Amino acid sequence: MKVGVVEKPGVLKIVERDVPKITSPHDVIIKVKRTGICGSDIHIYHGKNPFATYPRVWGHEAVGEVYETGSAVTSVKKGDHTVVEPIVYCGTCYACRQGRGNVCEKLEVIGVHRDGGCQEYFLVPEATVHKLPVDLTWDEAVLIEPFTIGAQAVYRGQVQKDDYVLVMGAGTTGLTAVTMAKLAGGKVIVTDLVEDKLEYAKKCGADYTINGKTENLADRVAEITGGMGANVTIDAVCIKQTFEQAIELTSAAGRVVELSFNETPSEIAPVGIIKKELTICGSRLQTKRFPVVIDYIKQGVLPLKGFLSKTYPVSQMADAFEYVEKNNATVRKVAISFE
Ligand code: MN
Repeated sequence: MKVGVVEKPGVLKIVERDVPKITSPHDVIIKVKRTGICGSDIHIYHGKNPFATYPRVWGHEAVGEVYETGSAVTSVKKGDHTVVEPIVYCGTCYACRQGRGNVCEKLEVIGVHRDGGCQEYFLVPEATVHKLPVDLTWDEAVLIEPFTIGAQAVYRGQVQKDDYVLVMGAGTTGLTAVTMAKLAGGKVIVTDLVEDKLEYAKKCGADYTINGKTENLADRVAEITGGMGANVTIDAVCIKQTFEQAIELTSAAGRVVELSFNETPSEIAPVGIIKKELTICGSRLQTKRFPVVIDYIKQGVLPLKGFLSKTYPVSQMADAFEYVEKNNATVRKVAISFE
């Protein structure tokens, strides 16, 4: 079978491997239909993901049909359409006991710490497999994992009905946060420097757009919120300045959600936090968001149509990576097809 592997930083290859075999009664083998390319996959390719080890089959956004199941598997059967939740956690450490396996002590991210979904047949634990409606197309299903990231940010920010939610950045993650914040009942403000992205954000439910190139962000947020500030600010730009700005632009009793893996320190005076009693939290991967997103899909409320920018057959994997990198400003999602 064909497998897409990053052999070492900078070396991306398609190799032939044997089809995996069931080894545990809880194993499931998925016949992969699509694997999405994420910004983090590009980072793994370039050796910029501090958690990745090599060689690594990339891909944490995999969807496909159940091909074979171990003897103890009960939640899915051969032929079921599924999406793989790309985290494996211990279930017993402090974080897991809090229901937050995404930050488990022994966390393994599929496609980062262990082999991922860019392979025709993909062996995963049953616990990672979620069943999908059969009428969902694979091009739509491959968007589920990205939307769980936005769902997690909104969950971490405890977005409530009528909250003003400021989403910084209208890239893929920002758009999923916009979508989820709107579905949670928020009044969504989105800021970016690229007008086309802001236009697309409106399709995802943004009520207000602010172009940071031509408008003063702080003034516009104050104007929209009647001087209060955003109740929840989600930083999906993830640079030093946006983290600092997020603290400033958030209202008293508000929440700041940080999605950044950035290692650059920000300069934040504690008084700006305590005066407003802000809650500042990280949002990493997701926990228990797959059922939430799948439920939204069943309700037909996610903007899946047209969200996928392009699909490439696995034989053109290198072109797909190049396309993502060259069109960084406009690409929402590119997927590899195994059909
Ligand atoms: Mn992803």
